[in-house]
Amino acid sequence: MYIVLLGAPGAGKGTQAAMLAEKTGLAQVASGDLFRKALKEETELGKIAKQYMEKGQLVPDEITIKMVLERLGKPDCTKGALLDGFPRNLEQAKALDNALAEQSKAIDKVINIKVSEAEVIKRLSRRWICGVCQAPYHETDAPPKVAGKCDRCGGELYQRADDKPETVQERLKVYEKETLPLIQYYKKSGKLVEVVSEGGPKAVHQKIMAALN
Ligand code: ADP
Ligand code: ZN
Repeated sequence: MYIVLLGAPGAGKGTQAAMLAEKTGLAQVASGDLFRKALKEETELGKIAKQYMEKGQLVPDEITIKMVLERLGKPDCTKGALLDGFPRNLEQAKALDNALAEQSKAIDKVINIKVSEAEVIKRLSRRWICGVCQAPYHETDAPPKVAGKCDRCGGELYQRADDKPETVQERLKVYEKETLPLIQYYKKSGKLVEVVSEGGPKAVHQKIMAALN
């Protein structure tokens, strides 16, 4: 089972992918998390990715596709995966379809999580993330029980460098230009399901579960 989560930055892809991972037992494969890990470990990949991420731009396809396909080849992905943040343009979508087809596999469903631009800016500007398990928090809407600490694992919370307003604007622009065309692409294949990101994470999760069944 391969499920793709689509949506603007801040739509709640990561939150929903984590909830779905818990429910289905599928591995969560988040391209942004893979890049941030490489950045932290200062690998070659991390050094290249950093230059693009800082500006809110996409890391080149060649690098991104290779990294994600390698991840999908790991043992925990034999039953499938929840893809969060990948594919993000047509080139990546086609590469994924081809790689899966080579193994007689295919994407089962694509969930488009819809959110307004105003909401995205509000969410990202007050977002805090766990440095250990990547769980997201929001200063006013979803604060942690203890300030600065993750409820789930006790890890330190931090703010992403690319959540500053100028970079958020650029990420939204890139999303509209590169990622929005994927909605048509997946609509044509009959795999697209759309869900509005309102009412909090649990409500959205229920809408997704209903749409998947
Ligand atoms: P968000 O969806 O909130 O923008 P992500 O964590 O998915 O955040 O991505 C952060 C950054 O990592 C992107 O702005 C981009 O630079 C890089 N990135 C993540 N996924 C991809 C991808 N599929 N293709 C190219 N770059 C990516
Ligand atoms: Zn944590």
